[in-house]
Amino acid sequence: MTNPSLLILPGDGIGPEVMAEVRKIIDWFGAKRGIVFDVSEDLVGGAAYDAHGTPLHDDTMAKAQAADAVLLGAVGGPKYDALDFSVKPERGLLRLRKEMDLFSNLRPAQCFDALSDFSSLKKDVVAGLDIMIVRELTSGVYFGEPRGIFKEGNERVGINTQRYTESEIARVARSAFELAMRRDKKLCSMEKANVMESGILWREVVTEVSKEYPEVELSHMYADAGAMQLTRWPKQFDVIVTDNLFGDLLSDLAAMLTGSLGMLPSASLGAPMANGRPKALYEPVHGSAPDIAGQGKANPIACILSFAMALRYSFDQGEEAARLEAAIEHVLADGVRTADLMGPDGGTPVSTSGMGDAILAALDASL
Ligand code: NAD
Repeated sequence: MTNPSLLILPGDGIGPEVMAEVRKIIDWFGAKRGIVFDVSEDLVGGAAYDAHGTPLHDDTMAKAQAADAVLLGAVGGPKYDALDFSVKPERGLLRLRKEMDLFSNLRPAQCFDALSDFSSLKKDVVAGLDIMIVRELTSGVYFGEPRGIFKEGNERVGINTQRYTESEIARVARSAFELAMRRDKKLCSMEKANVMESGILWREVVTEVSKEYPEVELSHMYADAGAMQLTRWPKQFDVIVTDNLFGDLLSDLAAMLTGSLGMLPSASLGAPMANGRPKALYEPVHGSAPDIAGQGKANPIACILSFAMALRYSFDQGEEAARLEAAIEHVLADGVRTADLMGPDGGTPVSTSGMGDAILAALDASL
């Protein structure tokens, strides 16, 4: 049997630094747990532009389509700010998402106990928080036609169109129900059915799909009320499913309940491939952090947690993903901190590789 394949695209700025720590973790799982991947590495973003004059070479795109999962670091940086829009580093990432048709964006908001002081909310509101927002990623108001700025009489009018087909709603709903089945079997769908027809259809289709998942307790909430409830008592939720625009806002809101950008992973999933695995791209939420790039200050945990998501959602290794998450929890509980996680009391931060090594030691201790 061949090993599952993993394409690694470190990208720009701190991308290669945090990915180097993920490589150590991948090697650990190969050596100590017998979970071996065929790993290949390639360029994306500014790094690809420097080498090929394009932020994503066609060969890299083909490799991503063929891989069992893609793990990406981050793209972008001031060096590329003046480039034409068509070759900006971000276009590489957008091309990956579009051509792999990654319609389901998973954004966990998980608060490690040791970091519960970091939230802007009270400790008891966020301690132990573990929720998942599923955002529709390939349709809705960011893509709907007509769009543009038009002349209407004496003034200009800016137009974007919220548009969802039944099948687009159904497929992201199914992905959220599947996720709910692996978790607490509780799903809340958020839209604005009170003022938007697309919201009415969203609610109807999600309700229809729910018949396929009788074990999952489904609720509906208007997205504005959802934002309030997320800040008031986020632990009332487990999985939330919502459209592209509301998901953009709600997932950022939920993520920031938990503290640093350096801690936030994500997954973008598409339709199942011939081997049953979904097309999948895993990446930290943060960008290339040019302000700290090359200084060994970056927190690799977001990228390592993205690999944990790959173990769970692409490779059916939920227990090993939990082992990795527990190792991170241990390290944080021991007070090991990168600079972004230092509280006002100060202390000495560890470097990017120091954090990776501490997680490896905790993994060893877990055996
Ligand atoms: P950013 O996420 O790169 O950085 C925001 C702040 O968070 C910075 O102060 C940075 O030092 C800090 N930070 C981010 N990740 C960190 C980590 N792992 N450890 C410690 N600190 C961390 O966002 P930005 O500064 O707005 O953007 C910088 C570049 O990244 C831009 O070119 C932007 O277009 C790009 N970007 C890329 C992605 C992506 O690749 N998915 C996402 C967002 C931004």
